[in-house]
Amino acid sequence: MVNYYFVCQRKLWLFCHELKFEDESERVRLGKILDENSYNRNEKHIMLDNVVNIDMIESWKVIHEIKKTKSIEKSAEWQLKYYMYYLKQRGIEIEKGILDYPKIKERFEFQLTKEDETKIRNLLKKIESVIYAKQTPHKINSKICKSCAYFEYCYS
Ligand code: SF4
Repeated sequence: MVNYYFVCQRKLWLFCHELKFEDESERVRLGKILDENSYNRNEKHIMLDNVVNIDMIESWKVIHEIKKTKSIEKSAEWQLKYYMYYLKQRGIEIEKGILDYPKIKERFEFQLTKEDETKIRNLLKKIESVIYAKQTPHKINSKICKSCAYFEYCYS
């Protein structure tokens, strides 16, 4: 949801109102194949409290979020920081988070700062207000729409 908030608030709203087409999309299937082949020696897909689904975790100290795109996005950074924040709330201090882009062989490391924690608390309030909005947020008419699982729903 943190990721969707940055990408498209309409997508966040649709997702939270049970319109979930994600599993059928080509990108998701491609992502699963990439996951299986890129990082097969580590703990993967750790689901916590049915809330966060961490791609990979090393010794409960370093978390990885694996991105299948070729573009580096702010949304991915905040998704990763949210995972670090979530674990911290449960007494697990994560030393760093790593965003991995196997397709472009790039890797970025992040720490969770006090300022980040404040931003995340504000972000969660904003996400809540999107989710509980009575009206579906507007379409964003962006080039990313073409690769969105809701494309046909939004534009047909
Ligand atoms: S198709 Fe575009 S407007 Fe519709 S949910 Fe996806 S990103 Fe948002």
